[in-house]
Parts: sequence; structure tokens; C-alpha cells
Amino acid sequence: MGTSTAYQLALRGQAVLGIDQFSPPHSFGSSHGKSRIIRETYFEDPLYVPFVKRAYNGWAELQARSGKRVLTRTGGLMIGAPDGAVVSGARASAVEHRLPYEELSAGELRDRFPALRPPDDAAARLVISAGPWMGDLVPELALPLEIERNAVYWFDPLKAAEFTPDKLPVFIHEYAPGRTWYGFANFGDGVKVALHHQGELTTAQAVRRAVSDSEVAGVRGLLKAFLPDANGALRATSVCLYTNTPDENFILDVHPEHPAVFIASPCSGHGFKFSIAIGEAIADVLMGERRRFDLSPFRIERFAEA
Ligand SMILES: Cc1cc2nc3c(=O)[nH]c(=O)nc-3n(C[C@H](O)[C@H](O)[C@H](O)COP(=O)(O)OP(=O)(O)OC[C@H]3O[C@@H](n4cnc5c(N)ncnc54)[C@H](O)[C@@H]3O)c2cc1C
Repeated sequence: MGTSTAYQLALRGQAVLGIDQFSPPHSFGSSHGKSRIIRETYFEDPLYVPFVKRAYNGWAELQARSGKRVLTRTGGLMIGAPDGAVVSGARASAVEHRLPYEELSAGELRDRFPALRPPDDAAARLVISAGPWMGDLVPELALPLEIERNAVYWFDPLKAAEFTPDKLPVFIHEYAPGRTWYGFANFGDGVKVALHHQGELTTAQAVRRAVSDSEVAGVRGLLKAFLPDANGALRATSVCLYTNTPDENFILDVHPEHPAVFIASPCSGHGFKFSIAIGEAIADVLMGERRRFDLSPFRIERFAEA
């Protein structure tokens, strides 16, 4: 910056003194390293475009004046996700200042510039399916998610023959208004039972992972009442997290500010079974293919509408 200013002032006939602690050019500051990029479709901000246009002319003039090679035009590739800062910013500058540009796919880039190996899709689309950590990853969306702790129990059946898969279907039992528990036959790990939507609210970071004796006692109360022959030794417990929405329906939607980002929070304690179809539905959306399912009931903005 200092030498350029001195150069310009001298061009205008000024008496100029340039002082430096070192002897420029040197490699102690920010201006060494043999080469620098100059680029016109300025992704940082379109306001720079008129400035860089002047710089292009300035470097060309210096080249002509000095007789030294200063500027080599190579063209420039701004590579990344279509809505990423680099590509979307460069596109915005090109459009605002009517600069020539082409938008190439990863494949076209590879064909035209064989040195480059841009990945096909990794940078092009993103699915965030972070479960109980979703709020941490997209705080800007302020999704109305509550994280609920749920304990699961496996008991040794007292009468094993009653608990084989052919004898006991999965069951969901509303044993009191709004109070539900559910269970499975013994697949070798014991009879699995758990309460539904009766857990304490927590976070993925703070969740209590241990299951207390009083919790076990509570479930044994239900076993005694409704599944007495499963009320054997406790084989195992586990703590699992529900990511609940206020209406207990899923969130399956494109990020409102980032069209290449898909937000998938299909839980509220009942998402697993759908996962194989949800993956398909999300792939339909991301690949612009025929949508098998109308995902509008799972849109993010429904919470703002409520
Ligand atoms: C790795 C790297 C890559 C970059 N790539 C690009 C690029 O591709 N395109 C681009 O446009 N920009 C690029 N930049 C940024 C660009 O190089 C800098 O913005 C620019 O060089 C800054 O110039 P300057 O004159 O402000 O700083 P400097 O070049 O560091 O000049 C400051 C001078 O002040 C002198 N000085 C400091 N204190 C005193 C003192 N007390 N008394 C006397 N002298 C003093 C120093 O000795 C030094 O010579 C890059 C920067 C880096 C580091």
C-alpha cells in the first residue's frame, strides 16, 4: 500500500519520501510470496467491483510503464456449494455489475479443468439430521424443540413361552388418559418395555444417563398390573432422547435461508419406523425428482403460523 501510494503521488509530480523499517520488497509483512490473485466477480461484496476494475487497469498500466510482466489473465474459478459464500457472492457481483460468468457443475469442471477434482455432491447439498443436537447446529432457526429423556428396560420373562414374537405382538397401551407405555416380545435380550412421552425435559449435553431404582420400580408397577409374567430380573436399561415438536409432527423442510440445506428432525418419539421412507423423500427433494410424499405438513414455518 505504501509503495503504491508513493508511486501514484510521484506520478503526479509530488516530492515523496517513503520510509520502511525494512528494505522493500521484503518477506516480513503481508506482500511477499511471488504471486497474488486479482478477481473481478468479487464474492466478498459487489461494492469492490468498480475498485478492482480500476486495479486491473492500474496493473496493466504499471506493466506497460515498467516493461515487466505484472498481470497474467488466467480466468478464475469460484468453487463451492451453490449457496455458499464464495459461489453465491461471486454470482451476486457478476449479476449486479453485468460481468460475464458461467456456472459449471462438478462434472463440467472436471472435464474442462482436469487438474481439479471437485466432489460431485458433497459440497452441493447438506442434510442436517442431528436429532437432539439439532438446536445447537441451527440456532438461527430457533426451532421449538424440546428434548425429552426416556428410559427403556429389558426384563427376563418369568414364562418365556408367552413372550416369543409369535405369541406377543408389539403393544402400545394407554393405561390412563394421556399415559402410554409400550413393549416388545423377547427377541433374546429380554422383554423390552418403556413409557412414552412421560420423560423429563433435558438437553443432549445434560441428560441423566443412569436409570434410577425408582424408575425401575415404576415400570415394575405396570408389569405387575398389565404384564405380570414379564416381571422377572432386570436385564438391561438404556436412556434415549426424544426431540419433540409442539405438535409432535416431524420437521422435514429446506432451510429457509439456505436452499441446499435440508433440515430433518423427524422424531417426537415416533420417527424411526419412517426413516427408510424419509431418506427417500429427502433424496427426492434434493435431487429435484418426483416427490412421493407431500412434506408440507412438516414445514418449519407452521410453527410461526401457529
Ligand atoms: C498469505 C497471503 C495471501 C494473500 N493473498 C492475496 C491475494 O491473492 N490477493 C490479494 O488481493 N490480497 C492477498 N493478500 C492480502 C495482501 O497481500 C495484503 O492485503 C497486502 O499485501 C497488505 O499490504 P500492506 O502494505 O498493508 O502491508 P505490508 O506489505 O505488510 O506493508 C507494511 C509495511 O509497513 C512497514 N512498517 C511497519 N511498521 C513500521 C514502522 N514502525 N516503521 C517503518 N516501517 C514500518 C513494514 O516493514 C512493511 O513493509 C494475501 C495476504 C497473505 C498474507
